[in-house]
Amino acid sequence: MGGRLKVARNFCAAARKADANLFTGIALCSKCGRPMNKNTYRRKETQRSYLICGAALHDTSNCGTSGIRYDVFENSFLGLLTQDETVRAVLTGKTAEPGKVDSLKAELADVQGQCEKYMRLIDGDDKPSRRISDALKALEARESELQDQIELEIAKSKATAPPAQAYEALRQEFPIPTIRIDNRSRLKELIRSMVERIEVKVSEPGYSIHFKNGQAYGVKLLSRPVPAERI
Ligand SMILES: [Zn+2]
Repeated sequence: MGGRLKVARNFCAAARKADANLFTGIALCSKCGRPMNKNTYRRKETQRSYLICGAALHDTSNCGTSGIRYDVFENSFLGLLTQDETVRAVLTGKTAEPGKVDSLKAELADVQGQCEKYMRLIDGDDKPSRRISDALKALEARESELQDQIELEIAKSKATAPPAQAYEALRQEFPIPTIRIDNRSRLKELIRSMVERIEVKVSEPGYSIHFKNGQAYGVKLLSRPVPAERI
C-alpha cells in the first residue's frame, strides 16, 4: 500500500473512531459530573459498547462501573430528536418554564385592576388618605416591576435562536437519523450546537438533556444500566 493511501486510511480510521461516540465530553455522569466514556468490549462472537463513568473506571469515584448500552442510548437520543414538536417547544422555551409569561401577565392584570380600584376610590379627592396613596404607590411600583420581568422573559425566549437553528439544520440534513447516518461528524457538530450536556443516570435507566438555551428535558430508557460483571 502506498504511503499516501496508508496515511489517508489511518486518518479516516482515526476520524471514524473520534466520531463513533456522538457524545464525547457532553455525556456526563449524573453522580460525579465527569464524562461518560464509550468503552467497547469484544467477546468471542459479539462486540458491544457501553457508556461508563470515566472517573469510576479510573477508580477516582465510587459511581460504579455499570454500563449504559451505547446503541440503546444513541437510538433513544436520536429518536427523541425526530420528535419535532417536543424539541422545538423545548428549544424555543415555549413550554420551558411553563406559563411564566402568562402568569406574570395575569399578576400584572390583577395589579392594574387594583390600581384602578384605588384610582376610582380617590377620584375627585384632593387629599386621599396616606394609606390609600401609599398602597397605590406600592401597586404602581409592582406594576412596572412586572412589566420589566415580562419584557425580560420574552427577550429570553427570543435569545434561544441559535440552538433552535441548529435543530432545524439537523432535521433538514438528517431527516431520519436512525436509518443511516453518513456523516457522523456533522451530526456530532450539530448536536453540540444544541446541547450543553447530557446527564446520564448511572443507577437508573434514563438521562436528561440540558440544551444550550438553559432548558432541560428528561428521558427514560427502557433498559437498565448493565452491572460491570455482566458486561
Ligand atoms: Zn461518575
